[in-house]
Amino acid sequence: MTSRIWNFSAGPAVLPEPVLEEARENLLSLGDTGVGICEHSHRGKPFVAVAEEAESLCREIAGIPDNYRVLFLQGGASFQFAMIPMNFLNKDQTADYLVTGSWSKKAVKEAKLFGNVNTACSSEDANFNYIPTQIAYSDQPRYVHYTSNNTIYGTQFSGEPEGLPGGATLICDASSDIFSRPIDVSRYGMIYAGAQKNLGPSGVTLVIIRDDLLESGCTELTSMLQYRTHSGAGSMYNTPPTFGIYLMMLVFRWIRDNGGLTGMAERNGQKAALLYDYLQSSSLFSATAEENSRSKMNVTFVTGNADIDAKFIADAAEQGFNALKGHRSVGGMRASIYNAFPLEGVDALIQFMKDFEANA
Ligand SMILES: *Cc1c(COP(=O)(O)O)cnc(C)c1O
Repeated sequence: MTSRIWNFSAGPAVLPEPVLEEARENLLSLGDTGVGICEHSHRGKPFVAVAEEAESLCREIAGIPDNYRVLFLQGGASFQFAMIPMNFLNKDQTADYLVTGSWSKKAVKEAKLFGNVNTACSSEDANFNYIPTQIAYSDQPRYVHYTSNNTIYGTQFSGEPEGLPGGATLICDASSDIFSRPIDVSRYGMIYAGAQKNLGPSGVTLVIIRDDLLESGCTELTSMLQYRTHSGAGSMYNTPPTFGIYLMMLVFRWIRDNGGLTGMAERNGQKAALLYDYLQSSSLFSATAEENSRSKMNVTFVTGNADIDAKFIADAAEQGFNALKGHRSVGGMRASIYNAFPLEGVDALIQFMKDFEANA
């Protein structure tokens, strides 16, 4: 078998190896059914058991209260940018958006098609290299939307945004840091995430949504666009992304068996600290995000010289460090070190960076 290399891809991203190995076994036959995971009917007992375990593990890991639904949808996080205002915002209402990167901006763009948007804060003035602390909420926002981790810019909220107006419904795009640390779901109306960063393959989107918010959604939309349709049908109104749900179930087992969200947070904290500490001490590389806004998932850094950046990325690729090129809007490098990225890979990268720096 071809050996695996260190994969720093921002998404789709590295998955836990035991998950991939188990999936490989079950591609030909799910358990002893004689039928592969992708070949089972979504209505049959074997797959229904998978979907039920995925939901119950998700609830267990995140401590999801009973008055929340767990949905497995399609269309990625980007589809949620539209589905949220479609369901919850009308033209007489205002929703507050915290704009901390291009994903937030895309969410705003969709919301404006349905109602008013108050940009409660924005860090665009500094190319999104920080998380704003001054937030100007509107009086009674229909909901408040934020992006907990900014995949492209390497910034992350350290917790929920402060100072929400009383009773405001908080909605979070957690695509790139979901289940990377403990979360108090009861503080949210809804949390959503495309799976391909921390939870599984692309093609399935996890939505955790409170009952009363779900029920308040617009009833004049086509069935597929209403959350209640998917909730009422246990995410099986139409054929769900069965393989994605299966892989997510395996990832949830892996999270549970590796200390749950507390265990994830510990490992992620350790990995990020190693890398940022090195960047701090380096005279060649420096982190692009402001110190108190730095992401534990996506570490963005530069040398300050585009040619040296390019040489670093090329040399790194040759040595088996994959996908370190930063997003074009930031330049430089980005090391995505999600839940499944091993500590040894961070150690190896730091050693490589030290060697590169010594020879620069
Ligand atoms: C990757 C990403 C998205 C886009 O997800 P899709 O599933 O491709 O639509 C949205 N928000 C954040 C924070 C992301 O990291």
